[in-house]
Amino acid sequence: LGVDPLTQRIKEKAKQWKYKIAVLSGKGGVGKSTVAVNLAAALAKQGYFVGVLDADVHGPNVAKMLGVDKAEVLAEKLEDGHFEMIPPMNDFLGQTTPIKVMSMGFMVPEDQPIIWRGALVTKAIKQLLGDVKWGNLDFMIIDFPPGTGDQILTVTQTLNLEAAIIVTTPQEVALLDTGKAVNMMKQMQVPYVAVIENMSYLICPHCGNKIDLFGEGGGEKLAEKEGVDFIGKVPIDPKAREASDNGVPIVLYEDTSAARAFMEIAKNLV
Ligand code: ADP
Repeated sequence: LGVDPLTQRIKEKAKQWKYKIAVLSGKGGVGKSTVAVNLAAALAKQGYFVGVLDADVHGPNVAKMLGVDKAEVLAEKLEDGHFEMIPPMNDFLGQTTPIKVMSMGFMVPEDQPIIWRGALVTKAIKQLLGDVKWGNLDFMIIDFPPGTGDQILTVTQTLNLEAAIIVTTPQEVALLDTGKAVNMMKQMQVPYVAVIENMSYLICPHCGNKIDLFGEGGGEKLAEKEGVDFIGKVPIDPKAREASDNGVPIVLYEDTSAARAFMEIAKNLV
């Protein structure tokens, strides 16, 4: 069976990426993109070379969260006449190494929805992998769309991911969908599948007590039931929201409880 040229280019480039990690969630709004950019930033803070692909084409927030949404994407013509895009870099936040970022958000105006059919979206994501000058990376982090759709299947198959990190909140409804995402990655034989619980609790700024806004221990129980690793809880942190709105991941913004949680999770990943 012949492999199409784009898939071949992806496979060729992927040889230069040591760890390919997908970040997924069962449903939207649980903080999947926040986790993806903070893990990327935490790794770059430790001196690793990191690329982030924003494959969440229907809500591409990664470039904004990394402060490069206004960047211009240049292209370079290769010897064979083929064009390659140069990924914009985040190298201005005091981390040790720059973070390369590629996103559908660069390709379409901010206020325009992407109304393509699935196959076209899949092709676009593949181009963002295979037609971009990523170079050597320690970590390629892919922010997938929420759910268990087609694009996730195709890209996971093409890339041979080393790991999948599934983000959930402790809430019942989120956990149900999270189980599906975990099972999808297990069925696709991704070697390492792990669960992160985001928005796990809130520390009351007045009394310092811990408030379990969305319930308690859900992520951990789910991971146990599915037989995958549970790798950390990230609290609700108003500063994390503020940082991300300012285009800075919390781990490079301020030393808060959420920042420390992300740093810890990233350290254990390595
Ligand atoms: P998703 O990618 O799952 O749709 P996002 O990462 O875009 O979710 O997060 C949704 C919103 O919640 C964003 O405004 C983000 O800044 C905020 N957020 C995510 N995680 C936290 C957290 N731990 N504390 C406070 N705000 C958070």
